[in-house]
Amino acid sequence: MSPQASLPPEGAGASRGVARREAQYLSTRGDPTLRGFSDILLEGLATDGGLYLPASYPKVDVATLARWRGLSYADLAFEILSLYIDDIPPADLKRLAHATYTEAVFGTPAITPVAQLEEGLYLQALSNGPTLAFKDMAMQLLGQLFEYELARRGEHLNILGATSGDTGSAAEYAMRGKRGIHVFMLSPHGRMSPFQQAQMFSLQDANIHNIAIEGVFDDCQDIVKAVSNDLEFKRRWKIGTVNSINWARLLAQVVYYFAGYFQATKSNTERVSFAVPSGNFGNICAGHVARMMGLPIQRLALATNENDVLDEFFRTGTYRPRSTAETHETSSPSMDISKASNFERFVFDLLGRDGARTKALFSEALARDGGFTITREEHARIASFGFVSGKSTHADRLATIRGTWQRSRRLVDTHTADGLKVAREHLEPGVPMIVLETALPAKFAATIEEAFAGPAGPAPVPEVPATLRGIEALPRRFAVLPADAALVKRHIETQAG
Ligand SMILES: *Cc1c(COP(=O)(O)O)cnc(C)c1O
Repeated sequence: MSPQASLPPEGAGASRGVARREAQYLSTRGDPTLRGFSDILLEGLATDGGLYLPASYPKVDVATLARWRGLSYADLAFEILSLYIDDIPPADLKRLAHATYTEAVFGTPAITPVAQLEEGLYLQALSNGPTLAFKDMAMQLLGQLFEYELARRGEHLNILGATSGDTGSAAEYAMRGKRGIHVFMLSPHGRMSPFQQAQMFSLQDANIHNIAIEGVFDDCQDIVKAVSNDLEFKRRWKIGTVNSINWARLLAQVVYYFAGYFQATKSNTERVSFAVPSGNFGNICAGHVARMMGLPIQRLALATNENDVLDEFFRTGTYRPRSTAETHETSSPSMDISKASNFERFVFDLLGRDGARTKALFSEALARDGGFTITREEHARIASFGFVSGKSTHADRLATIRGTWQRSRRLVDTHTADGLKVAREHLEPGVPMIVLETALPAKFAATIEEAFAGPAGPAPVPEVPATLRGIEALPRRFAVLPADAALVKRHIETQAG
């Protein structure tokens, strides 16, 4: 059967309740079982260890783009989600999209406003949500979807996670006050920035449980693993996660590529490129999905920091995850990854959706050899997927932050600076380049200071949004526990829903 066989004619009818295709998902490792959206929503890995992807990408034509161009962000989100979700009634899905993408939560009516920096170079702000980083874009929707699906099933969930900053706070702000959900978030005691601690620990919602572990981030992660590996405990206490491999998170992120395209162009035949600061390959994987749907994207420029696992792959065809010891602590910390957990999704598409070959690389070669190299022919195919890549160092970040301020009077954060640096290496005349702004500079004040030290100074002061001013002075709610999985389990038992 052709993978296209189940598509609606225009990729459009779904949201009107006609010609609804069966939105089905398969695993990147070859398990042929197809699953519905609601089945995979609350899950992590597929049962064969792979990642879920739609059985086919719905195609969007010029007429559909024309219809979508004038839509509000929430309505655009509804249209795109509708193509991938057929087991939530359209009226409910529309309500969830509108409850998520509001000016009150994201600060502007455009939700992800695009600003021109200079001729041909644009910045799309994904960082105006509650935690000032792009993870809010997806996590806020996930909060709505989880609450909806759990209520529908009459179930509840205890989300357990470990964080050194961004992901944990995005999850807490998305799940706070949600019925049927408790969040237990472990963080290394005293090791997050004062602002990050204040952001998380000041939440007073009864369903949010901050646990400061006497140890480092790896200890927190080990405890999460230990608890999750206790299958009896996991089942009994309905332990779940909100990690970056969740398909719904990726799907939510597809929307802002469309929103960015509409803002940077006037017609639906123009092409644009995106530059994307990358860590776990989640953000840019959503760009890949948008491009597969037919959004006119010329290049997807992947930007890494000194942790250049992905840049190395795109340049050489070799994927070589790093050890903890080889992973650098950088001034763009949310991109300090040793392996890219969403990367398997792209490789599956690159290999012509060959599940057996993807499995051989990701479950066999990785375990046996610590990495793999794709063939020359496979590497040559990367260009047809639009991907290019580059790397940025601490010195590059400082120069980019300073230069962008001097040229355009726009202050960017360290992650966005990585994206801007690589964007400039891939500019093409006549093709607007949109850099995704993934965090606000207020979160990285020390590096901003450093960028303007000496004759370039004084440093501009990053603006702190009104909602977060004075946050350090608020009362805090958190427990301190030793790095001991048994004690964390006992804590969950006494607090869980
Ligand atoms: C998570 C994060 C990234 C990287 O996104 P991935 O989806 O992991 O590629 C970049 N910048 C910031 C600020 C982030 O929080």
